[in-house]
Amino acid sequence: MTDSQPRLSFEFFPPKTPEGKQKLIHVRDQLNSFAPDFFSVTYGAGGSTRDNTKGIVTNFTSAGIATAPHLSFGGDDEETILELLQDYKAAGVDRIVALRGDMPSGVGGAYQLVYANELVAFIRKHFGDYFHLEVAAYPEIHPQAKSYSDDIRYLKGKFDAGANSGITQYFFNPDAYFYFMEQCHSAGIDQPIYPGIMPIINYRNLTRFSDTCGAEIPRWLRKALENFGDDEASLKSFGVDLVSELCEVLLENDAPGLHFYTMNQTEPTAQIVSNLGLIPTE
Ligand code: FAD
Repeated sequence: MTDSQPRLSFEFFPPKTPEGKQKLIHVRDQLNSFAPDFFSVTYGAGGSTRDNTKGIVTNFTSAGIATAPHLSFGGDDEETILELLQDYKAAGVDRIVALRGDMPSGVGGAYQLVYANELVAFIRKHFGDYFHLEVAAYPEIHPQAKSYSDDIRYLKGKFDAGANSGITQYFFNPDAYFYFMEQCHSAGIDQPIYPGIMPIINYRNLTRFSDTCGAEIPRWLRKALENFGDDEASLKSFGVDLVSELCEVLLENDAPGLHFYTMNQTEPTAQIVSNLGLIPTE
């Protein structure tokens, strides 16, 4: 991909089984043909996928494929996180998606989450400018935020602590992103914030997940998706058109790139990216 093209990244979650890992390598190779700037691999609540995430990230990196681990303190102490970061650096990893994360299910009230701005500051303190740090941003507000302006203030805190860029929670209404970017600029945030894009694969999973993470599925879209019933093929085809159009509108209106929540599947992400013509020129 040339410099003038928008930044492109693909997110995976760490599969639990050897078969899942094998399949992921196949998906990665297919998506890698679009020459993304990087892949990223999520981190389970409370550090539950620490070794699995690390294994995949270091494996991909040693194959020459830029891959960023997501990271949060979870239940770990500073020493454990420092060691993990040192291992990443030694493996050639140079980008981290720094998060607070969520409370793992079934833990008691003593559990203390560490805000993402503190993780960013911790990484900068120990590693200077070595890592490119991505942080999460919420055009439709983080579900626990007290107010829209508070959430933007805390996002600014993450950039002030040293984050380089943001990746958003997914959304289906482009105006949510445009309004959010205006508010970010007014708050003095100049760093790029890349829209997170969720391909539409399965109606039930999408609505369940959206309800918990605070991403809105507009009423008209819920109705349209509901109407497909068990006809998954038609739902996916509708989803590809809809999400391709969303991406087009975003890029035409100066979004600096796109980050795809691939759900570890080549399609429909590959189809959407092809529709956008984001194909490497060489
Ligand atoms: P923070 O930025 O720390 O914010 C959390 C909440 O606290 C917000 O409501 C904010 O307004 C408020 N807040 C922030 N800072 C302060 C402060 N200093 N004082 C008081 N309040 C504050 N989850 C996973 O489990 N694993 C993943 O790999 C993962 N990857 C993600 C990738 C992206 C791009 C996105 C958008 C989300 C991801 N998530 C992941 C979900 C994320 O962990 C949750 O949304 C989590 O609840 C918040 O994490 P954060 O880093 O945004 O938190």
